[in-house]
Amino acid sequence: MELKKEEFTRSFLEFWRSRGFQILNSPSIIPRMWTTSLFIGSGLVSSLETKKEREPLGKNLTMCQPCIKHGTSRLSLMDMMNRDGYLTFFEQLNCLSVGSSSTLIFIKNIWNFIHDVAKLEKKNLYIGVSETQPKIASLWIEAGIHPNNIIFPDYEAYELALPKEALHGVYSPIYYDRADLADYPCQSERCGINCSCDRFLQIGDLGLLSFHDQVVHDHGIGLERILSVCNNLPKVSEIAEFQEIKAVIKSLALLSEKQENIFADHLRSIVILVSFQIKPSNTGRGYVLRSLLRNIFWILQQKTGACLLSKADLESFFRIIASFHPFIKNEENTFVTEIIGEIAKFNKLIEKGKILIKKMKTSGSLKDNDLIFLQETHGLPSDFIRSIL
Ligand SMILES: [Zn+2]
Repeated sequence: MELKKEEFTRSFLEFWRSRGFQILNSPSIIPRMWTTSLFIGSGLVSSLETKKEREPLGKNLTMCQPCIKHGTSRLSLMDMMNRDGYLTFFEQLNCLSVGSSSTLIFIKNIWNFIHDVAKLEKKNLYIGVSETQPKIASLWIEAGIHPNNIIFPDYEAYELALPKEALHGVYSPIYYDRADLADYPCQSERCGINCSCDRFLQIGDLGLLSFHDQVVHDHGIGLERILSVCNNLPKVSEIAEFQEIKAVIKSLALLSEKQENIFADHLRSIVILVSFQIKPSNTGRGYVLRSLLRNIFWILQQKTGACLLSKADLESFFRIIASFHPFIKNEENTFVTEIIGEIAKFNKLIEKGKILIKKMKTSGSLKDNDLIFLQETHGLPSDFIRSIL
């Protein structure tokens, strides 16, 4: 039987509540205090954001955090779309303990949840430990993980250092080996946790941090990622929500699997961004929204020669996505109106582009510089330009 998102979220929050953590409502994707970021991309920041002042945290907290990532420090948006499990919108289940609580008990609880509640196979779970924190390896072993399943040192362990916020520390990744779920015909001799074949999926992490000299334990799990594993799916892009969105996409155009995944990924983010009152524009959050929209419009334009998203298509996409994220359910009209407005702008861009290219062609064939100019100044991708030359 398929494990549903709501059921899994509830079991995570209840698990930590019964261990003394306070459940918070899902917060916004827009940072209120940490305004150097456009969006909240992981849970810890939002937990700290629950405070009014930058004072020590008083409570252990747990929540389900919606997050937006338009590229990361290591991966561009295009790199993300070439990998499985890197979504521009995702939900993170997280919990944070403060003060004197024991690291061993926190780790034991994480292990307890992943192994005994989520029922992930012990042999497939791996923990990456930073070379700066060797003692963490022994705590994981004490909690129940086999020494062979510790990756030490793991250069993927992520160091967080925000001196201005007096926050620093290191994250240990938690990986799941998907070899049992699909064939990974990887030829790389160095196939391992960060191989591009995506056999090893990072499902979560553990952060040991210091915030204004206060010890903070931070744990997050990628909801879409762990659900795919719990449901024995070989890819994150096969979770129920993606399947339903992709069924509608298939009725609109014949796309490659990768294009379908990009379309479904971007569409989820677009719906979420609009539901947080973000309007398409050429700067900041609005630019992120517009660039995601343009990516899917270009895919459609390339395949069908036009941008064919009708009001009815938009409504059915919205309803599918809202059925998985009920907090957005009142935003359907806003979504449809905004996207129809953007489609009109996109179609104008195409017409303007065609005239411009025709004009430029009269003074000889287009050079590389012309393509760069048309791309950077007018937002016309080279594939489109070539298609009408
Ligand atoms: Zn590999």
